[in-house]
Amino acid sequence: MTQLLDNYVLGDWRAPKGDGQVLVDAVTGEDVAAISTEGFDLAEVLAYGRSAGQASLRKMTFHERAQLLKEMALALNEVKDELYDLSFRTGATQRDSMIDIDGGIGTLFAYSGKGRREMPNADFVVEGGVEHLSKDGSFIGQHLATPMEGVAVHINAFNFPVWGLLEKFAPAFVAGVPVVTKPAPQTAYLSERMVRHLLRTGLVPDGALQLLLGEPRDLLDHVGEQDLVSVTGSAHTTRKLRAHPAIVQNSTRFMAEADSLNAAVLGPDATPETPEFDLYVREVVREMTAKAGQKCTAIRRVFVPRDLVEPVTQAIQERLARTVVGDPRHENTRMGALVSLAQREAVLTGIEQLAAAGTVLCGPEARDLNNADPEVGAFVAPTLLLAEDPTRDEPHLIEAFGPVSTVLPYDTTDEAVELVKRGRGSLVASVFTADPDVARDLVRGIANHHGRVLVVDRTVAKTSTGHGSPLPPLVHGGPGRAGGSEELGGIRSIHHYLQRTAVQGSPELLTAIAGRYMPGAPRSEGTHPFRKYFDDLSIGDAVVAGPRTITQEDIDAFAELTGDTFYAHTDPEAAAANPFFDGIVAHGYLVLSAAAGLFVDPDPGPVLANYGLENLRFQTPTYPGDEMTVTLTCKDKIDRINAEHGEVRWDTVVTNAEGEVLATYDVLTLVAKRGSGAG
Ligand code: NAP
Repeated sequence: MTQLLDNYVLGDWRAPKGDGQVLVDAVTGEDVAAISTEGFDLAEVLAYGRSAGQASLRKMTFHERAQLLKEMALALNEVKDELYDLSFRTGATQRDSMIDIDGGIGTLFAYSGKGRREMPNADFVVEGGVEHLSKDGSFIGQHLATPMEGVAVHINAFNFPVWGLLEKFAPAFVAGVPVVTKPAPQTAYLSERMVRHLLRTGLVPDGALQLLLGEPRDLLDHVGEQDLVSVTGSAHTTRKLRAHPAIVQNSTRFMAEADSLNAAVLGPDATPETPEFDLYVREVVREMTAKAGQKCTAIRRVFVPRDLVEPVTQAIQERLARTVVGDPRHENTRMGALVSLAQREAVLTGIEQLAAAGTVLCGPEARDLNNADPEVGAFVAPTLLLAEDPTRDEPHLIEAFGPVSTVLPYDTTDEAVELVKRGRGSLVASVFTADPDVARDLVRGIANHHGRVLVVDRTVAKTSTGHGSPLPPLVHGGPGRAGGSEELGGIRSIHHYLQRTAVQGSPELLTAIAGRYMPGAPRSEGTHPFRKYFDDLSIGDAVVAGPRTITQEDIDAFAELTGDTFYAHTDPEAAAANPFFDGIVAHGYLVLSAAAGLFVDPDPGPVLANYGLENLRFQTPTYPGDEMTVTLTCKDKIDRINAEHGEVRWDTVVTNAEGEVLATYDVLTLVAKRGSGAG
């Protein structure tokens, strides 16, 4: 009897009703498990996420949730072998599974780091700078971003049962939005195993992650205006779901990562004697065979200068002929099976349609399998086609989601650009050239049709991460057919789960709302703020220091000390001839140094270090004889978990006797916490 897998819903693992859909091993055809969502009230599942999940996640800050992600990643690392073992049943080789399993765990680590380094330790974000909306400064605007109050529904494709789930989960989790995730049926047993381990750690707060295995049934009927739906799948599925009545009716935030006919273009300079030629051939073959071509980013269209078609097709075929296809568990196997016999049928149909526009150079019949039965396993041999006429529609329209690529000749780089664009929006393209002009023309020509473009020449041969690898810090997603959305891209994807709001009002009230000092808000001058521990500092604590007169001797001495004898500080005539100055001016860095000399409280105390300046602008020249005054105000505090100090940002304004602003900047310091022993 095939095991019917429990779903994780409403705070527990629960058994569905019925017999379920049986999932089979892609290689041996044996039953692996059965799945179903029958018997669950899916409206209730979403409601549980919105209530329990929101309640537990919103108790934490971005940093606290990001810290949990790291611990989850470490725990999954411990059970990798078990996941690898199960992954063979999806048809994946050891190397394929690395992309999925290690790639997924790596994404958790990446979002943990990004979340703690680049998000505030708060539960909302003050985004961008202040907008001044009135001349007298009494009315300003500031953007804030706060987590959505709903639940994120994640619907995934079959090809990355671990990575696909985790790369969507990580940014939602850091953002503080609960997830209901639905893996694709074919490989859902691997997602289930990974989630089981994740939940066993006890690190996932109640309601933050629910797992539906099987038919989504009426799930999407119940999404609302604070929810978000993120789908990865074929262009057909994403088009259908985008138009779902509840999504349309409620303007539910919708993100789609769809299929795409990704291109790799060989530059005209990359002839067979060049390293770029070899790198190109290797990349095309790798993309055709990794995950048996079942990657949304795989190279489908192979654009080659017409006079290089012969050597390119020959070199690719030679390499493909050496690719051992068969049981992914066997160490000699380089390419495993497709996910299912149904997928094999779909791929063979796709090849037939593509063949109407060209010649099949090799494949698709799988012969001489390594330790596997072609009647039982879902095998297709790597299949290379040549479309002599690159203007035919088929190669630009049909995605055969398997080890299938089509070579297309081009005559000029302009023509290559136009042909690449016929994919009507792709996730990724790559350009192989060592010629800067070719690189510029191709990349600028196709960039607006792509989410990512990889440029390869010999200097990145060892370091390039490859055409097919989406990376956590870089955007994944493309326009048009590719779905029109973005994932990953560092903290950009955390922001997808936040609502941006423009808040307008007085500096005083916006300071209270944002927890960040806004120019024009009241300041509090008393004890020098450098004498206060991190815990005791309040936003708005300030010191006004000065005045100090900047003299000609100061400027001469600074030039002498630093060696900066730029004419504007040393040559009166040349300085006066400068369009911006009336004569000798003080070095900007002298103004900064003198300002520090005014505001610093010198004795040992809670301020441990100055680690930088940001947003520096010199607004008015400082002339010999000018009097300068500096105002330093506590603008923002970032508490670091498990650290003995926090980060404090100081709004700094230097003015002259006439009240003109000489310089503005933020000083960044590390300040000891009370009781830490430091400071
Ligand atoms: P698919 O057939 O489009 O299915 C994708 C997901 O959508 C599955 O979980 C499927 O579940 C679900 N789905 C379909 N109809 C639904 C409905 N009415 N309501 C809710 N969910 C629904 O894609 P696939 O065969 O799994 O994956 C291969 C495709 O995904 C390829 O075209 C590939 O290019 C694309 N892909 C894109 C990316 C990317 O990042 N852009 C990544 C991987 C794959 P059910 O089968 O249970 O309905």
